[in-house]
Amino acid sequence: MKGKRLKNVQKTLLFYKLHFGIDAPYRLLVDGTLCNTAYSNHINLAEQIPKLFQAHVRIFTTKCAISEVEGLQARFGVSRGTSLSILHQFPVIPCHHPLAGNVKDCFSSKYKYNTQDTDKNKFCVGTQDQELREHARKSGGVPIFTLKSRVPCVEPPSDYSKSLAEKQTVAKAVPEHSKKVIAGIKKDQGAEESGEIVKKRKRKGPNPLSQLKKKRKTLPSSPKTDGKKARKRKRHHGDSKQEDISTLIKNLT
Ligand SMILES: [Zn+2]
Repeated sequence: MKGKRLKNVQKTLLFYKLHFGIDAPYRLLVDGTLCNTAYSNHINLAEQIPKLFQAHVRIFTTKCAISEVEGLQARFGVSRGTSLSILHQFPVIPCHHPLAGNVKDCFSSKYKYNTQDTDKNKFCVGTQDQELREHARKSGGVPIFTLKSRVPCVEPPSDYSKSLAEKQTVAKAVPEHSKKVIAGIKKDQGAEESGEIVKKRKRKGPNPLSQLKKKRKTLPSSPKTDGKKARKRKRHHGDSKQEDISTLIKNLT
């Protein structure tokens, strides 16, 4: 069962690597809800998370996440040194929230680049908070680490992440395909253009064709007249020659 779970996690991480460029060393943002559950179940996050990922994982938190836990402890009187002490184990990554803000807004300002083709750092999220997890699912491209009872796991990609991945693969496939399509279109266009030229040349041809038709009309209609004309011409030529000869004789005599 453990082997199958690890395989599923590797499959999920491979998905994020292929489609969103998220690879080891992973950057994981954790909040107070995760640390609280880990504390309740005696789970050492710093040990268990790299084992699950089977890679180097750099675990971070933010001052917004810390202040949220501090606020909850002050509000509900939870003794210090519990989830807050776990949270303080991890480096605090800077955020641009002067007043400790909402953890969802804080974390999303970090993982919003996950779906973009950018050199900026991409983040995984570790939380038990339903609202934050749902936001990460809808943002897409965010690996989500949770504790199901005592079992660490990485959620399978959300439907939105899958749809984004499909769009990206299509977008990547289009250039190669479009090249072939464009080449095919150019060939067709070239054939059409050459065909047009031939047609145009043929269109210029109707003049001789029409002439031929006229000849066909004239030839069958008056073959005898042509013969007569030719004979007349010959006679004329013959007559003229005879006349010339007779005039020469006359002149000589
Ligand atoms: Zn913040």
